[in-house]
Amino acid sequence: MAKKNDLKEKLFYNPGNGYDKLSAKEEKAMNEYCEAYKDFLNHGKTERLCVDYCIKLAEERGFKAYKAGMKLKAGDKVYFNNRGKAIMLAVMGKDKLDKGINLTAAHTDAPRLDLKPSPLYEDGEIAYFKTHHYGGIRKYQWLTIPLEIHGVVVLADGSSVNVNIGGDEGDPQFIIEDLLPHLHKGTDDQPLNKAVPSEILNVVMGSRPVGDKEESDRVKLGILKLLNEKYGLVEEDFISSELEVVPAGKARDIGLDRSLIAAYGHDDRVCAYAELAGLFDAKNLKKTGVCIFADKEEIGSVGVSGMISEAFEWFIGDLCKGQGVDIRDCFANSFCVSADVTAAYDPNYAEVFEVRNDSKINHGVAFCKYTGHGGKSGASDASAEVVGKLRKLMNDNGVVWQMTQMGKNEQGGGGTVALDLANRNIDTIDAGVPVLSMHAPYETVAKFDCYMTYKCMRTVFEQA
Ligand code: MN
Ligand code: MN
Repeated sequence: MAKKNDLKEKLFYNPGNGYDKLSAKEEKAMNEYCEAYKDFLNHGKTERLCVDYCIKLAEERGFKAYKAGMKLKAGDKVYFNNRGKAIMLAVMGKDKLDKGINLTAAHTDAPRLDLKPSPLYEDGEIAYFKTHHYGGIRKYQWLTIPLEIHGVVVLADGSSVNVNIGGDEGDPQFIIEDLLPHLHKGTDDQPLNKAVPSEILNVVMGSRPVGDKEESDRVKLGILKLLNEKYGLVEEDFISSELEVVPAGKARDIGLDRSLIAAYGHDDRVCAYAELAGLFDAKNLKKTGVCIFADKEEIGSVGVSGMISEAFEWFIGDLCKGQGVDIRDCFANSFCVSADVTAAYDPNYAEVFEVRNDSKINHGVAFCKYTGHGGKSGASDASAEVVGKLRKLMNDNGVVWQMTQMGKNEQGGGGTVALDLANRNIDTIDAGVPVLSMHAPYETVAKFDCYMTYKCMRTVFEQA
């Protein structure tokens, strides 16, 4: 056996595969954690469903809906539901809020196909829904895969109904067709993005005509009749709806060794669940801990339910008011982990990665000092001090971590909610789970990294 080089051991940074640092006890905890995470995914196919399931889990653990001016003491647990699409949960710490809070912020919206305002039509005796893609997708990946539809419709009388089709055993599902290879000649040489234009992402809704054969649009009529029977809706009601087409199917273990999980929406539910579980399990909080599920990250964090929204100031500001604290003092002393996924090194596409600096699966939670595009444009560049603080916290608490960025300098890039928090005078750093096939209908993560991200979030709540 070669003699160990002590000087190398002492001086080199060589984190290595996380499994070499995982005890049997931790492996058991990791597997239990990942089963609960898969449940969360299976209940949370949309941002609204994530909020619903989050509230269920939170209420089981004693969290109460926050009301303006509520009197709170250390240990109290509250949540603020922002319009059913985003949510913030707080566990009150022993310190006053002017000492700052420990925040973790993830997003639970994911790339998908939204229905257009007037979606239903018939062509060639087939009924379709027209869609508008939401977020960054590779459109060809959405062809010929089973799909579900979830969302809400506000009816003419102002009442609303929840729509969930395709998720339950025995439900019908939906599909977007593709051309057979025999007729593909004209598109074979086209760039991927051109070969599948967004306007052909039309979802097959049915093919059974109803009524008098002399009439037109009989298949469309049949679909509306079924929707009317089940949900009481008429065609005009689509105008006031939010219906999302998402990949069907449940989260599954991948690999003979079951070390990976594939599912729709790991970005960014894998970090959302990690911070939620971290807050649930954190003990004896000195500082108040706040966990955020933001909406609209995939389209720029904009709007009333996005991270830019003043709903954040409303909630934190009201908590501060209850203690006579200026929200600006609270923000100035706060610490935030912007919990979002990162691109895992994929050896099949090695040419776009920067192997010395990009994250690898099974190497632990990945800190990202900066995101942005070519020349760090649009990045929230965490300071050396902020990175140093997180690094020490993780090392002191047995959390396996790695550094990451997003591909070669002029190749890629990305953005998260980090700058939205940092712009509010809050020290912020990105950290999250490396993902293979990010933004695909079925994304892959490593169980080890999921678990270490949970440990990271819990440690931030308990000790940052
Ligand atoms: Mn994300
Ligand atoms: Mn994303």
